[in-house]
Amino acid sequence: MNSTHLASTPTTTIPEIEEFDQIRERLLSHLDGIVPRFEIELHVPKIRRIQELKVAQNAIILGHNYQVPEIFHGIADITGDSLALAREAARAETERIVFCGVHFMAETAKILNPEKRVLLSNLEAGCSLAESITAEDVRQLKAQYPGVPVVNYVNTSAAVKAESDYCCTSSNALQVVEAIDSDRILFLPDEYLTRNTQALTKKELIPWPGRCMVHEVFQASTLEAHRQQFPGIEILAHPECSPEVVAEADFTGSTSAMIDRVADSSADRVMLVTECGMSDNIRNRFPEKEFTTPCTVCPHMKRIDLDNIIEALEKDQYPIEVNPEIAQRARLALERMLEIG
Ligand code: SF4
Repeated sequence: MNSTHLASTPTTTIPEIEEFDQIRERLLSHLDGIVPRFEIELHVPKIRRIQELKVAQNAIILGHNYQVPEIFHGIADITGDSLALAREAARAETERIVFCGVHFMAETAKILNPEKRVLLSNLEAGCSLAESITAEDVRQLKAQYPGVPVVNYVNTSAAVKAESDYCCTSSNALQVVEAIDSDRILFLPDEYLTRNTQALTKKELIPWPGRCMVHEVFQASTLEAHRQQFPGIEILAHPECSPEVVAEADFTGSTSAMIDRVADSSADRVMLVTECGMSDNIRNRFPEKEFTTPCTVCPHMKRIDLDNIIEALEKDQYPIEVNPEIAQRARLALERMLEIG
């Protein structure tokens, strides 16, 4: 398995600093009716300060789809799911990357673009899935299943990625599984993503009992109740939800795939079975649709806010560092994934 270099097209340049009125108008165009106007007023000077600091520090901001709306619409230069942001991080040309997401995402950015200074504004922004498995757990599984290739979800630490042959995201899990020349695969650590992917492949996927604390709480009965209450509703579920929830949904996919599906759907009412931020962040793009929101908040994603981003840029904190030997092995698993899709 060869490693190749990633896309060489440079990522976006830093946008110009806006006037206060421009920022206000832009936020209102995205968030009026979603975020109270007094809150938008509070965000305006902070966003302006972040724009000044981005220029001064030669930084771009990558924002995950689960970030709060003032980050997603207010300051992120690029938004997307884990896969899209990993690709953007790999080709960023600015001196600094400020990652508005959780720790494993910032670590992935550092692994893929080691020359850059990657900042995470709150180191407590973790992930229940990433914490569910250690490198030692993977080594023990490899000893138990000798010769069986290991695929780890990107929602894992660098040390766990370093023990893997491939990484995957919720966007490309099936593609990665089908691309591997083996009928048995250790597919870690999200039990539900494994079971949902298992339903789509003839290969045997060996699971690990990790769960996303956000997606594991959804119940199929909640989806059924919504369907009865709102006939014609289209229900979209993330593959980190249980197979019972996925079976009740009309569509399953990553957050980016969900957005594409909403765009293609003729349904007037949609339900996104995922983290709360998603519906708020895309509502303005689909004003003709109604979003029902029985959602759950990811406390880790919400540890990132405008105040700690200002502090991060002012103090140049908190830089993500990865042991070079671990980073090299983890990069190989990530690059193999990016080669596949
Ligand atoms: S939503 Fe789930 S998988 Fe994503 S960061 Fe939060 S706990 Fe981790």
